[in-house]
Amino acid sequence: MKFLIVDDEKDVEIMFRQKLRKEIRNGDLALAFAFSGMEALNMLRNQIPPDIMYIFSDINMPGMSGIDLLEKVKSEFPEIRVSMISAYGDNENYTKAINSGANGFFTKPIDFDSLKKEINEILMG
Ligand SMILES: [Mg+2]
Repeated sequence: MKFLIVDDEKDVEIMFRQKLRKEIRNGDLALAFAFSGMEALNMLRNQIPPDIMYIFSDINMPGMSGIDLLEKVKSEFPEIRVSMISAYGDNENYTKAINSGANGFFTKPIDFDSLKKEINEILMG
């Protein structure tokens, strides 16, 4: 199953690759990365249907915000599930994300134990 991680902070890619090393090596999942909402949308639009099943997106990004991306994904690719990652964990973004159809909400710094638990639940269907 392919996951797309969207975050304007590039070191997030290194962190995800390290923390999910075993699952990637086993072939349980594959990761793709985008560093802006627009880049993420272009990746999805360039492969119809997209091979990405699940997105984890930062909210606070220059240009298109994670909430804007969430809304576009939900209207163009309703089968893709999206969880949000916020540096703030504030109620306003939480409420917006859930109202816009987010499947989960994580706060930074990311707790990879709970994220891995969520990913394993997704993988087990
Ligand atoms: Mg950010």
